[in-house]
Amino acid sequence: MLLSSPRVLCLSGLDPVGGAGLQADIETLVAHRIHTLSLVTALTVQDSRNVRRVVATDPALLDEQLSVLLADARPDAVKLGLLGSAAQLPVIVAHLARLSVPVICDPVLRAGGGAALVADGFPDALRGQLLPLVTVLTPNAAEARRLVPDGVDLAGCGAALLADGCARVLITGGDEPGASVVNHSYGKDMTTRRWLWPRLPETFHGAGCTLASAIAARLALGDSVDDAIDAGQRWTQAALARAIAVGGGRRIPGRLPA
Ligand code: PLP
Repeated sequence: MLLSSPRVLCLSGLDPVGGAGLQADIETLVAHRIHTLSLVTALTVQDSRNVRRVVATDPALLDEQLSVLLADARPDAVKLGLLGSAAQLPVIVAHLARLSVPVICDPVLRAGGGAALVADGFPDALRGQLLPLVTVLTPNAAEARRLVPDGVDLAGCGAALLADGCARVLITGGDEPGASVVNHSYGKDMTTRRWLWPRLPETFHGAGCTLASAIAARLALGDSVDDAIDAGQRWTQAALARAIAVGGGRRIPGRLPA
């Protein structure tokens, strides 16, 4: 009998719609038969169209939660989603530095509906403090350009983010125009991989969180980074193909078992 299962520690925002954030993480991880250790970085006010307000968790509370939790339970991977404030970064970095497990970071900066989710100084703080600890960074194209405002093109953004210290950057193109969604991964030796996915007719809420969690799931199960990035995209594309409507706005990925 199996008495334990792989665990992923998720630090994410809470989305009452249940499309993005921590619920996206937990559903994706459950679908991979992985246990989630969950911390709420922010409460949000939102519907399926857009985010109206983000209320960050007090960094001292996060610190206390992480200290108590990690003294007792060890994750096999960490997934970071929306972080409520730059003030949370030093706390998160201090705890991650003591864990030697893969870290997947979805640098959430703006909602698909257009709302800004972080303050102006946050992108630079994330680059300077967090990226050296990140195994896979998963910005969409707009997030990559906001993180690297002087990047010439997406490859230039990828190169700059690698130079900050993360091991792999997967830039997704769901927010770019075109008949296909084109995703690129950039590695330390400047190897580039490219994926083309058919663009589905709907728009989605929570696709990025789902993808980053699916990659975290595969890494926690022991996949190589290459295999995890590949399998995570395939799983997410299938979840988007069976997306459901829970409100009048964008659809959310179908992550529940069929
Ligand atoms: N709310 C939370 C808590 C999130 O983590 C995110 C994105 O990661 C969003 C809202 C916005 O999601 P989307 O841009 O897919 O609508």
